[in-house]
Amino acid sequence: MTDRAAQLIDEARKKLGSKAVITDPKEIEPWVSDWRGRVHGNSSAMLAPASTDEVVELVRLAAEHRVPLVPQGGNTGMAAGATPPADGSAILLSLRRMNRIRSISADNRLAVAEAGVVLATLHDAAHEVGMRFPLTLGARGSCTIGGLTSTNAGGTQVLKFGTMRSLVAGVEAVLPDGSVHNGLSGLKKDNRGYSLDQLLIGAEGTLGVITAVALRLVPAIAARAVAWTGVDSPAKALELLRFLEARTSSIEGFELVPQDSLDLVLKHIPATRPPLSGEHKWHALIEATTADPAADIAAELQSLLAAAMQQGIIGDAVIAANEGHAEAFWKLRDTISEAERAEGQTLAHDISVPVADMPAFIVDAAARVEAAFPGVIATGFGHLGDGNIHFHVRAGSHAAPGWYEAEGEKITHMVDDLVTGVGGSISAEHGIGQLKLAEFARLAPPGRIHALRAIKQALDPLGIMNPGKLVP
Ligand SMILES: Cc1cc2nc3c(=O)[nH]c(=O)nc-3n(C[C@H](O)[C@H](O)[C@H](O)COP(=O)(O)OP(=O)(O)OC[C@H]3O[C@@H](n4cnc5c(N)ncnc54)[C@H](O)[C@@H]3O)c2cc1C
Repeated sequence: MTDRAAQLIDEARKKLGSKAVITDPKEIEPWVSDWRGRVHGNSSAMLAPASTDEVVELVRLAAEHRVPLVPQGGNTGMAAGATPPADGSAILLSLRRMNRIRSISADNRLAVAEAGVVLATLHDAAHEVGMRFPLTLGARGSCTIGGLTSTNAGGTQVLKFGTMRSLVAGVEAVLPDGSVHNGLSGLKKDNRGYSLDQLLIGAEGTLGVITAVALRLVPAIAARAVAWTGVDSPAKALELLRFLEARTSSIEGFELVPQDSLDLVLKHIPATRPPLSGEHKWHALIEATTADPAADIAAELQSLLAAAMQQGIIGDAVIAANEGHAEAFWKLRDTISEAERAEGQTLAHDISVPVADMPAFIVDAAARVEAAFPGVIATGFGHLGDGNIHFHVRAGSHAAPGWYEAEGEKITHMVDDLVTGVGGSISAEHGIGQLKLAEFARLAPPGRIHALRAIKQALDPLGIMNPGKLVP
């Protein structure tokens, strides 16, 4: 521990009490590695403020002693953005004690949640007032509102409701100079120049500490229909999505699943079974919802899928008969990564390309990667309608223990070059963190990097907010 860090810890304890300053290595240990267990850091303490005022105190101390802070929520991020550096030069700032829902109003269609509120808790609170926060993802039991906002998270409902950027009405944050930005009034119209709120969304903790967020709510779902369909190709899947969208506004989830991924799930995940009897190269999982209790959403989806089948867009389809079936369909999608891990080493790429280019991209990129690295298996699955898929490359017959380390960088370079070549993004929803920093620096246009650095320097000239992340 440096002298400066020791002073900060000492003063923080005097000012905020020992509850806000954890120094027991056993308590800190689970939080210094990333969720995937790939990056391991160090921190001599974990600061745990319980209020915005306490965050202000800690940020001022960090500035005074020039000790960087690493904000952290649920530590479920996929880019190691919340993992402190290994040299122990920074201190973890956990927002998990700030877990109050300050207000929730069906009339305003807004909830104001502190940064440490877990997503599932917000879902429950919205449900209790007859509303819904329409963003969800696999880590909903652990990820926090502060982390979701700071990574501009997406998930499975983006098709209809957008990412956090569209669902955040305003942000309260402590800026690196210790001042508080309060954007929580959730004004629909506010043209006072640059939007600090939007700047903080997706900033990965590099511009300030988000302490609370005003979030847009929508009416609760009255019913949902979940269908599993078999299609010949990603192009057919996209054709199906457009077919449905032209006829109904109720589609809010549309996930592409290749047969190869389904096979792995059926092999490794207990209590799973194929939804369709025949063979299909690709599958689309569809969720349609309605807030109207009088609507028969299942019948509507059924008749649309029957029409799609008649037109030769899909080969087969089945609608979940009840909530249990619906959950079973989603389980097949949500456990793909888990099944891949059980199978062996996998390189994950969270990428986006223009939606219309995605079907061809999935097929071409997979063929090129498999040709360049014989033995590997490349597939794309996920949010086709958002132009965002998880392009995963499995070791396959190259399953030697060091494959990931030996081949990973070369394969990732190739994938990222292909993505960039079609005007796509090497990070669709997971952020840059530290895992994608080198690739971001290699591929981002100079203007983009220059602007990022200029904004960082202007707001955080001392470099105390999450250094080594996002900004090359
Ligand atoms: C099983 C699983 C499924 C997932 N599915 C998806 C998915 O479908 N879509 C998707 O987008 N993501 C997904 N993720 C990734 C992850 O859940 C999201 O990135 C989430 O937003 C991270 O929230 P967190 O609270 O865990 O943040 P953390 O991991 O703790 O932090 C993430 C980043 O935000 C910063 N940060 C955290 N809190 C604050 C704060 N209060 N102020 C400032 N900066 C802060 C951190 O410094 C870090 O840079 C998934 C993760 C898992 C484990």
